[in-house]
Amino acid sequence: MCGIVGYIGYEQAAPFLIDGLEKLQYRGYDSAGVCTNDGEKLIVEKEQGKLEELQDMTDNGNNVKGTVGIGHTRWATHGRPSKENAHPHLSQSGKFAVVHNGIIENYMPLKQHLLENGMTFSSQTDTEVVVQLLEYYYDGSFIDTVIKVVSMLKGSYALGIMCMDDPDEIIAVRKGSPLIVGIGEKENYLASDVPAILDKTRNIYRLDNDEIAVIRRDGVSVIDRNKNNIEKSVEIIEWDIDAAQKGGYEHFMMKEIMEQPKAVRDTVFSRIKDDRVILDEIKLTPEQIRDFQKINIIACGSAYHVGVVAKYIFEKILRKPVEVDIASEFKYRDPIIDEKTLTIVISQSGETADTKEAMEEAQKLGSHAIAIVNVVGSTIASEADSVIYTLAGPEIAVATTKAYSAQLAVIYLMAVYFGDILGKINQEDYKYYISELKSLPEKIKSILETSESIKDIAQKYYECKDIFFIGRNIDYALSLEGSLKLKEISYIHSEAYAAGELKHGTISLIEDGTLVIALATYGRLYEKVISNIKEVQTRGASVLAIGCEDQTELNKITGNTIFIPKACDIMLPSLAVVPMQLLAYYVASFKGCDIDKPRNLAKSVTVE
Ligand code: GLU
Repeated sequence: MCGIVGYIGYEQAAPFLIDGLEKLQYRGYDSAGVCTNDGEKLIVEKEQGKLEELQDMTDNGNNVKGTVGIGHTRWATHGRPSKENAHPHLSQSGKFAVVHNGIIENYMPLKQHLLENGMTFSSQTDTEVVVQLLEYYYDGSFIDTVIKVVSMLKGSYALGIMCMDDPDEIIAVRKGSPLIVGIGEKENYLASDVPAILDKTRNIYRLDNDEIAVIRRDGVSVIDRNKNNIEKSVEIIEWDIDAAQKGGYEHFMMKEIMEQPKAVRDTVFSRIKDDRVILDEIKLTPEQIRDFQKINIIACGSAYHVGVVAKYIFEKILRKPVEVDIASEFKYRDPIIDEKTLTIVISQSGETADTKEAMEEAQKLGSHAIAIVNVVGSTIASEADSVIYTLAGPEIAVATTKAYSAQLAVIYLMAVYFGDILGKINQEDYKYYISELKSLPEKIKSILETSESIKDIAQKYYECKDIFFIGRNIDYALSLEGSLKLKEISYIHSEAYAAGELKHGTISLIEDGTLVIALATYGRLYEKVISNIKEVQTRGASVLAIGCEDQTELNKITGNTIFIPKACDIMLPSLAVVPMQLLAYYVASFKGCDIDKPRNLAKSVTVE
């Protein structure tokens, strides 16, 4: 997510900082700012919007004095994009300045504590709590105070910190969000990613979780939280700037596929407190929630496919009827909706015109609209009655991967939250769901580690002309996404079918060698999918199955199976989607397609 830069040396800091921020723009941002020490005080220049605003305001940094500073491009997670919420944040008296990437999950109780003790806040961000804590607990030692404060934080953070009393130091610390230190000659740098500093140096330290870097003009020391020195080895960056922006991957899509454990973790963990799901964002009382008679889900593209998964899950757990609509159809079908219907809209960008208009229609009919959105402060987020943000970070590749996964994670959270309020989940199941939710990021990671074997499968099939995806129940919902992913980036014709439906027509298209990808993860219908696999094999299809690791006979039947870890059945889509994304990616790569920008497609569809 977004970008941090830092500089300490003998040159003017701000021009470097702004240049570094420019190199980090690809990460997405909604506001930008810098802070330097001009010798008398910490000065902050920041603005909402494009970096040009900050460049104009500061004459590319030239009119900001000081040879030490930190800068930031923000991708809002807590508090809308605005000047006040932009980083750097200053502490109450101006003694400390902080830039932060990530999410402080426990900022609310910490903020409450500070407010009760007379501290004042000037933004809505989670970040500001860090800078005010530094001031509140300051005991005369910069480093000791930083160590004390970070030990109070939960969540993910990369922090760049300055203190007026120690003008010749920047302290940096990370947990969960990336941070590197660039090593120069009589000057050193800080950045959340390599491109920001490539012009200056190719020698870096990559900070690991919980490591603290004390950065001075003449050197950098890296220590742990007990102030023991850590011997870091210098990494020499060989990439060019283009590869560096993609984290060394060839495409943003692969980078984003690999970021899914973090996207899911951030989305889930910030809503679980003491093993309970907290969704304060939903502005409905338990009574209102119990009163709903129906749920209507509206979205487009992959977000619609999340809606289809949600229908199966909500109906199974909540026992309320759920309808899922393609947004462009919803508005014109005279929907039967009233205040007893809960509307859920899903959009990565929060700007999807069809979804926005459909939401407005539902609201007009009296329905409460909950939006699941990735971009803070987007139009849909501002107009919805409640917003639940997916904390996936900026997504750049046109074909969604990590935002889809984060949306699914929100659906599970909502299912557990509503299920509890409606009395449909007993304590034992509740505990089970929570532990399964928490284990998702690791399981996703373990599938990503097998990406090479999926590449081999892709090599076998990339010349196919037609591919069919089949599955039942949530596997069917997921096959819709598998098929879309493949066709949007590889241009191979593909269709998704409910496995039991194929025989009612489309099976006539199966001929010798046609590839059928059969999803068979959902235990309850496993036997039935096996029958469907045999049906297509009899007609000559070649079958690639996706199943759970204990479904070993799947491989005896197909000889061609991708196994995923076992998980609670409603959460299987989060795992099974990963091999399908990888398969689509590698197929497109073997075909030489423009993976990040497939033809005719746009990332955010703002027209009806
Ligand atoms: N959570 C912080 C905010 O919303 C930091 C976001 C970021 O990583 O840019 O301000």
